[in-house]
Amino acid sequence: MKIVSFQLNGNVSYGVIENNEIMLIEGDIFGDFVVTDTRVSLDEIKILPPVVPSKAVCIGLNYHDHIEETNSKVPDRPVVFIKPSTAVIGHMDDIKYPELSKRVDYEGELAVVIGKKAKDINVNEAKEYIFGYTCGNDVTARDLQPADGQWTVSKSFDTFLPLGPWIETELDPLNLEIRTFLNDELKQSSNTRHLIFDPYTLVSYISQIMTLLHGDIILTGTPSGIGPMKKGDKVVVEIENIGSLINYVK
Ligand code: MG
Repeated sequence: MKIVSFQLNGNVSYGVIENNEIMLIEGDIFGDFVVTDTRVSLDEIKILPPVVPSKAVCIGLNYHDHIEETNSKVPDRPVVFIKPSTAVIGHMDDIKYPELSKRVDYEGELAVVIGKKAKDINVNEAKEYIFGYTCGNDVTARDLQPADGQWTVSKSFDTFLPLGPWIETELDPLNLEIRTFLNDELKQSSNTRHLIFDPYTLVSYISQIMTLLHGDIILTGTPSGIGPMKKGDKVVVEIENIGSLINYVK
């Protein structure tokens, strides 16, 4: 099912999307909840970020085609970095172009939503700890990303982590078309079967480093076709069987 976080008349709720309607959820989506008969139209509400993660753990250089375009080497282990929770925005929210940067790129990515506390998890058990999947955009100030070294500055500006529009909880993540459009022009087109480290491997590996909590995000990396955005641009990350995450650059 598709679970959406939204605001209506000042109230924040979760609901399940069915056709063009939302059926309200009562309870905790990561614990016990019921889907009620109360319905609202998708057109009436403002979609919010699907989760507020304690951390977004991100993977660099995880598609073979992206490694080629950046003249990088295939890593032996996942390349891991973190984006702060303060970078998160939702569907239709604005990406703010920072004054410190002269080149801000999109990176369309499959985002894993963790469902429960995960520490030292085996690859075989990883699926149990995944709540679902959403679309992510690992917005990057490319000119501030050093060729060698860590990426905190380039990845961490406020609004640099669009997530959404909702969480799909029933999904095979291993064979999904993923596309990014800039002003409706196709810029990235790949499939998650080209991932070097798949979502289950990533949950297992990261859980050996840090405890993952419910609502945490793992961004699985971007395919080839990265490129810059400018103010006024519309960027769309579309993933098969999830939906389309739309944002504008301001
Ligand atoms: Mg990325």
